[in-house]
Amino acid sequence: MTSVSAALFEGAGTISVTSRDLPAPAPGEVRVNVLACALCGSDLRLFREGAAVTPGHEILGGVAAPGHPLDGRRVLVYIPVFCGGCARCRAGDTHLCETDPDLIGWNRSGGYADALNVPERCLLPVPDDIPDTLAPLLLDVIGTTAHAVRLAGKLLPPQCGALVLGAGPIGLGSILLAHTLGFSSVSVSEPHAYRRDLALSLGASPWNGKGGKFDLVLESSGRAEARQAAIESVAPHGVVALLGESGTPWPFTENRAIRRKDFWMLRSFYFPIGDFSANLALLRANLPAYRHLVDRTCTFENLSACFADFAAGRLAKPIFLPSAPGS
Ligand SMILES: [Zn+2]
Ligand SMILES: [Zn+2]
Repeated sequence: MTSVSAALFEGAGTISVTSRDLPAPAPGEVRVNVLACALCGSDLRLFREGAAVTPGHEILGGVAAPGHPLDGRRVLVYIPVFCGGCARCRAGDTHLCETDPDLIGWNRSGGYADALNVPERCLLPVPDDIPDTLAPLLLDVIGTTAHAVRLAGKLLPPQCGALVLGAGPIGLGSILLAHTLGFSSVSVSEPHAYRRDLALSLGASPWNGKGGKFDLVLESSGRAEARQAAIESVAPHGVVALLGESGTPWPFTENRAIRRKDFWMLRSFYFPIGDFSANLALLRANLPAYRHLVDRTCTFENLSACFADFAAGRLAKPIFLPSAPGS
């Protein structure tokens, strides 16, 4: 048993730092010292409501397991714990494992801490050319969005136009991917000026909510109004990909804009672990652009303030570094 520092999400926007015991890794697990953990829009509910375990699910760490083949290596943490043996896992859909429902950073302790224990099969070794602050983007920003875009691509012709609703980390990641994966144009709608300007600087065109129909609409805000706008602005035979999260019921208004229209509505979750090497290539292909997303780093000391700015739309993709220089 060792003692680690960990962020305690108390609710109402309060994060304190506590010291808690970290048990010895269970069989099949290794200790990972956290190097970086990216803030995610889905953490904001925990920031507001509190969390029973330490949140943080976009984790880069260093393996601390003497004698283990990965000891000392930098790894990303694949958050869906999976069994490797069920029908879904054997088909490559590790993110859909039928046996193990656990998600690291959600119902198992996550990355806003000095260290955590991680199942060996959830370790993704990171090549040396990927910097600490960009590596976590391989998970949600690239992994989750690329998985959704790949699924949508099965239903769409090549070179179609896309609309992104909400330019948070997932929306901005979608904009970068849509270009890389060959969409002909990307439009964006985002209420916060800072994020909207960033989206435009990455090549998106502004969309004012009026006119135009899009083959692919990536809804990444989770807001009911944006979901409604998505189904109204999708072109016939197009795809609405629902990437934003919301815990509240969505009132679906069936109006003239959608009554005479065939379209697909697509929900996707995270990504199959086998996508990782293709996702590395997506990051390497566009590394300078991804650097623009990481606009602040923070430590335990200012994690709360960083979350407050992130919640207000003043940051795109801040990164928590538990042992940043000078902290
Ligand atoms: Zn996330
Ligand atoms: Zn399984």
